[in-house]
This record gives sequence, C-alpha cells and structure tokens, in this order.
Amino acid sequence: MPLNLLDRVRVQQGDITRLAVDAIVNAANTSLLGGGGVDGAIHRAAGPELLAECRTLGGCPTGEARITRGYRLPARFVIHTVGPVYSGRLEDAVKLASCYRNSLQLAVDHGLRSIAFPAISCGVYGYPIEEAVPIAVDTTAAFLARHERITEVIFVVFSDDHLAAYQGYLRSRQNAV
Ligand code: ADP
Repeated sequence: MPLNLLDRVRVQQGDITRLAVDAIVNAANTSLLGGGGVDGAIHRAAGPELLAECRTLGGCPTGEARITRGYRLPARFVIHTVGPVYSGRLEDAVKLASCYRNSLQLAVDHGLRSIAFPAISCGVYGYPIEEAVPIAVDTTAAFLARHERITEVIFVVFSDDHLAAYQGYLRSRQNAV
C-alpha cells in the first residue's frame, strides 16, 4: 500500500457524534428507524429531524448505504449503512466490505472529502474486531487508491482493544510498504 494512502487514514478514540467532518457513518439496521449503540447516539445528537428524513427512505438492505443531512450534528451528512449480523460465513466479509465501499462511494457522489466510520457490525452484530479491521482498512485503501478527492478517513473507536486492533493493523500495513 503506498504511503500516501495511509496518510489519508487514521484511527481515533472517542464519540463519533462529536466529529466535524463532512460525513459520519451510522451502523444502522435495515429499517433505518433507529436503534441502540452508535445508531442511538447519532439520532440523539442529530435531533428528531434525522428520524423524519430516515422515514422517507424506506429502509436499506444489508451492505448498502443511504445518505441524509446531519441536522444538529457537527457533521454535515450522515451516511447510514447496514452491516451484517456476524454468522461466521464468507458472505459476512463480502457484506461488510460493501458497507465501506458503498459509504465511500456515496461520499464521492456528494463531493465530500472527509468521512468518519465507526466499527460497523462490531457491537451488537457481533463481528470480531480482528476480522473486521482488515476488511475496513483494505477496502478503504483500495477505494482511496482510485479516488483522490477523499482526503480524510477516520476510524472512530470507543474501546482500548478496538483502538489497538486498528493501530496494530495500520502499523503492519505501513511496515509492509
Ligand atoms: P452494530 O449493530 O453494527 O454492531 P453497534 O452500534 O452495536 O453497531 O456498534 C458498532 C461499534 O460502534 C461498536 O464497537 C461500539 O462500541 C461503537 N460505538 C457505539 N457508540 C459509539 C459512538 N458514539 N462513537 C463511536 N463508536 C461508537
């Protein structure tokens, strides 16, 4: 992976709802009508207007993504994507990679340059962080290689072990250059 790709990617510990980026990504469910975890936090911080816009979208299949405005969030937009519920099957990885790719594509389609991702599927949906991180990073790096307009991708994590998983993988990729 060329160094300039990793220069545009970083990991940060904290609350994704606080980030003033062009778009934050929501790990939503197929209804897009809100839930727990990061989804609940985003809806609480964005205010009821977000749910009102989500109601107009008619849901979202697993692996796909939809965009709304950010309302009371510091982020201008929210990209809602639906990660797979972890089952241990190969299709989980295919669906999770689609979440990252489709979210990044929506950002490009809307002329956005900075985007922050939570660890999609790694909460209630049970995806092991060590399996999810290479999918998140490699899918993002492959996308960035083809799209120069995205200048900043932030992987936002809550816990110390998730932070260590991203840092360890990013370091290993850097050393492989
Ligand atoms: P999923 O249903 O896709 O597993 P969850 O919301 O349960 O989604 O969890 C996804 C990840 O987001 C988990 O690692 C969780 O710790 C993390 N998370 C929850 N709230 C926030 C937040 N406000 N900012 C960043 N990450 C968060």
